[in-house]
Amino acid sequence: RFGLGKNGNPIYPEIFRRPATAAGSSVMAANLIKDGGIIHHPAGGTHHGLRDRASGFCYFNDPVLGIYALLDSGLDRVLYVDIDAHHGDGVQIAFAEDERVLTVSIHQEDLWPKTGAIDDIAGGMARNLPMPGGMHDDEMRFILFEYLIPLGLSVAPQAIVLQCGCDTLAEDPLSRQLLGNQSIWEVVGAMTRLAPRSLVLGGGGYSPYGVARCWSGVWATINGIEIPDVLPITAENILRVIKWAHSRGRQPASELFTTLADPWRGGAIRDEVRDRVKRLRGYGV
Ligand SMILES: [Zn+2]
Repeated sequence: RFGLGKNGNPIYPEIFRRPATAAGSSVMAANLIKDGGIIHHPAGGTHHGLRDRASGFCYFNDPVLGIYALLDSGLDRVLYVDIDAHHGDGVQIAFAEDERVLTVSIHQEDLWPKTGAIDDIAGGMARNLPMPGGMHDDEMRFILFEYLIPLGLSVAPQAIVLQCGCDTLAEDPLSRQLLGNQSIWEVVGAMTRLAPRSLVLGGGGYSPYGVARCWSGVWATINGIEIPDVLPITAENILRVIKWAHSRGRQPASELFTTLADPWRGGAIRDEVRDRVKRLRGYGV
């Protein structure tokens, strides 16, 4: 009945405490930024959780609970932006009827849960940009400049909640996207400037090296810390002790240990991407 023990929601010793801690942290974060500020909560971002059902390894939906806490603090204009490789279905469903929250999801079109088509606006308060596999840094930048920033300026949200799943990185085994971490940091830097309050969450991410490097850089971006060309040995040692049983973890490239920033993984903006962004802009806000 609650989806436990099946469909990607395994029963494990921390089945309650781990997701409950993440959910409580999103609520706490919302309260801490009541008067302004930015919080980075990388254990949050479980965007598939449903009202009464676990889904996609999300037992509670901490973004939804964090947004409710923001609304409870008196806000009535919240923008949720989800750049995870998977559709942010649980958050969209939660606020589909709620005029106080606009949810935007950019996701790979053919991945589970296969919802979030471009014409799915959930009664008005959702926007979806399904992307073809192969998305690269220049396309993410294109989406940022041609869609997300104009949208943010137009909505003028009192708070932005950014689900920052990094399963879009090229080294991630679950998606076919080809991002480097720099375009993700660019999104974080730009979006957190568009509202007086920001809650930056984690999300998916299945290459432990990719996740550790990307979200460390998210932290640095939020704090205005310059990313060094070469990591100090203390940081390198932390990355080197990560064990990853996946076949891609057998011989990781040495740059994964010695640097934080990926090289910019760019390319041409594909016509279908231009067309979709144009179509999305047609929905206005
Ligand atoms: Zn994901």
